[in-house]
Amino acid sequence: MELVTDLHLHSRFSRAVSQKMNLVNMYIYGKKKGINLLSVADFTHPIWFKEIKSQLEEVGSGIYKIKDKEKIDQENNFANKPYLGPYFFLSTEIACIYSENGKVHKIHNLIMSPDLSVAEKINKTLSSQGFNLTADGRPILGATSRNLYDLLLSIDDRIIIIPCHVWTPWFSLYGSKSGYDSVDDCFGDYSKYIYAIETGLSSDPNMNWRIKELKDRSIVSSSDAHSLEKMAREATVFKTRLPGKFSDLSYKDMVAAFKKDKNGKLEIAYTIEFYPEEGKYHYTGHRLCGISYSPEDVKIKGKICPVCKRELTVGVMDRVEELAGGPDTSLFEKDENGVVWVKDKQGIRPSYVSIVPLLEVIREAIGVNSISDKVTIIYDKLIDSLAPEFELLLKTPLSEIEKVAGREVAIAVKKVRERDLKIEPGFDGEFGKVDIDVKIEEAKKIKDETRDQMGFGF
Ligand SMILES: [Zn+2]
Ligand SMILES: [Zn+2]
Repeated sequence: MELVTDLHLHSRFSRAVSQKMNLVNMYIYGKKKGINLLSVADFTHPIWFKEIKSQLEEVGSGIYKIKDKEKIDQENNFANKPYLGPYFFLSTEIACIYSENGKVHKIHNLIMSPDLSVAEKINKTLSSQGFNLTADGRPILGATSRNLYDLLLSIDDRIIIIPCHVWTPWFSLYGSKSGYDSVDDCFGDYSKYIYAIETGLSSDPNMNWRIKELKDRSIVSSSDAHSLEKMAREATVFKTRLPGKFSDLSYKDMVAAFKKDKNGKLEIAYTIEFYPEEGKYHYTGHRLCGISYSPEDVKIKGKICPVCKRELTVGVMDRVEELAGGPDTSLFEKDENGVVWVKDKQGIRPSYVSIVPLLEVIREAIGVNSISDKVTIIYDKLIDSLAPEFELLLKTPLSEIEKVAGREVAIAVKKVRERDLKIEPGFDGEFGKVDIDVKIEEAKKIKDETRDQMGFGF
């Protein structure tokens, strides 16, 4: 059994988050996407925590279901959708901003709590230490990452920290602007409790495989979504080692998977990735000066902006090169559904697959500039009649997608599966832009028309 999880996202109580991010909507979109297990997010926020407590009930140790599930399922025609969940568990992001040895660090850390009562203790302890939890769903704490871990473990030794989006320049462990060069530098004697790191949108697992100190640590992916549509744009997929019921699973099993515990019930099967080029900090550059450098450009031209003469914001690719201790060990392999997987040559790491969110795929296929009503109507039609988003993108036969959504959408999904797309890389806070050229494919196919009179030979 596979479990698609989104470990890190935000509620409407975090800054710059859609007001629609409430538990019921998160459940509905989770169902459409095909997420089985979803973070409640932002549990340190007092009002949001009240909502969590009143709207969820525990079904497994640390695993919760939404109380109105049956009613919501009925209202949204989910009653006949066979797949599980989404169920909820407790994790939240905390921004640690502090100076250490004369340098200011801004590190985002994901805190995972074994259950609601421990989450309540975390909130009480942080408040009693004078931290302000009401200003933001992702609170800012003036505590070092190491001291925060120390405090959390004194509350309950089952709590874990996963450093978030570890490569972004401004708010992360390896960040070029405000981070460290290693997990040890950041967490000191507590680095032994760092079992996993989050890739973030701008890096792929294969970049992280090159970092020596991550060799025995898990690489996880999550959406960090600020709106419903962006949920699970990245995800971590677990599989059960033994056949078992979902209700038997618990928080403990997720942590065992991060620890790569061979006796645990769960292990990480693969991750689902956003194309890192699409992320906001893939290349090195200056957004306002209109400068974007690839690693090759940086080698030739350096890291000083030719426009404003200040240092460029060093992107994830260059930062990985600075810290990498080994070569890229990835290789590509196509499966029976035409999906190209990225695998580790050495066979040590879970594989991953890169996707473009289905709304974007449809938008590109029908050639419009924004997610219009036309796009969402096709999206809902596909989800209602075929399968949740992940299954559509990775498994559903293209001929079925063509029947429901037309040839262009089917071609666009095929191209995403084959990694056949162009992306203008993001830099210095500017998202990258995807281009799925359906028309080229169409022209090519029309030329080959005689080859297959019946259709497109998917
Ligand atoms: Zn963050
Ligand atoms: Zn500049």
